Amino acid sequence: MGRPAKASIDLNALRANYRLAQEVAPHSQSLAVVKANAYGHGAVACARALESLAPAFGVACIEEALKLRAAGISKPILLLEGSFTADEVAIAARENFWLMVENEQHIEQIRASHPDHPVQVWIKVDTGMHRLGMEPAQLPAVYETLKGLPQVMDEMVIATHFSSADSLDDPTTRLQIKTFSRACEGLEAPRSLANSAGLMAWADARAQWNRPGFMLYGASPFDRPQAVADRLRPVMTLSSGVIGLRQVAAGEAVGYARSWVAQRPSTIATVAIGYGDGYPRHAPSGTPVLVNGQRAPLVGRVSMDMITVDVTDLPPVSLNDPVVLWGAELPVNEIAACAGTIGYELLTRMTGRVPLSYR
Ligand code: PLP
Repeated sequence: MGRPAKASIDLNALRANYRLAQEVAPHSQSLAVVKANAYGHGAVACARALESLAPAFGVACIEEALKLRAAGISKPILLLEGSFTADEVAIAARENFWLMVENEQHIEQIRASHPDHPVQVWIKVDTGMHRLGMEPAQLPAVYETLKGLPQVMDEMVIATHFSSADSLDDPTTRLQIKTFSRACEGLEAPRSLANSAGLMAWADARAQWNRPGFMLYGASPFDRPQAVADRLRPVMTLSSGVIGLRQVAAGEAVGYARSWVAQRPSTIATVAIGYGDGYPRHAPSGTPVLVNGQRAPLVGRVSMDMITVDVTDLPPVSLNDPVVLWGAELPVNEIAACAGTIGYELLTRMTGRVPLSYR
């Protein structure tokens, strides 16, 4: 029978979310960000599912891009994180990987490279994230320098990244958009600003290229309802089953460190999911799970392989009954909020022990 823990990936939902991005930004192209194993959903399967829709993909690094190529994905792939050697410039040109140029060292690596033909370059401008990218004032000179290099294709894309686009009231995004358009003044180049939050909520951020990631997997980056995000369809359902059932008397504790004590005679279901699968260890008592489709609270500590759930108030539960940890009826963001983290982290830190299946 095997362990019941599994993650089921709905590729139709993934495609529907991509189409929603296209609908919201019909005048842009949106590359699909599939870094970190497509936020835990399986990069190869997700890229295959999106390849007929997306003009390009985005990954963090060359290793992720090479895995997609090895699996037969042929669309261009942008390497979002930068850092490459001269040899990797040649690989990028050969493989149609697009390089994000973020500092002087990147320019030197390109200058030192001997690609068979020119490589496609994006230039990252730091408009306030202060993580990667050129100073806005450097952009004209950097642009001219790169334009003069035979290793670089003539048309470059100028990009920036938002720090706070998921905070709908935060003026930072507007400032970043302004800083970016000032920096780009006079340069005839396509532009790219928007991640998922930028694409959904900030119309001015929808330029020639968007770079949505999280929204494709059906989760909202916002902490409140938002017209576009509310139409997303969750892609991953993390589920498992009941592997133990017991009655505990009032006053009995459940699990490690006896952190939860029954206040009444209680029925406790043990479920095969734990932090060894990527379920958050810090999910506290009270975090909801769905047992037979009904909400019940997790109680006690999350173990490596198991959690315990108080099913006293549910219709009778049996061994092997299905349990959903997150999915369409239980947003991953809700579990993340209980555990003091974000949906992004929960999705990407699923471990290899949980088999992914596709529908
Ligand atoms: N663009 C860049 C440069 C990124 O680093 C990321 C993700 O971190 C994205 C786009 C996609 O962001 P999101 O998943 O919020 O859509």
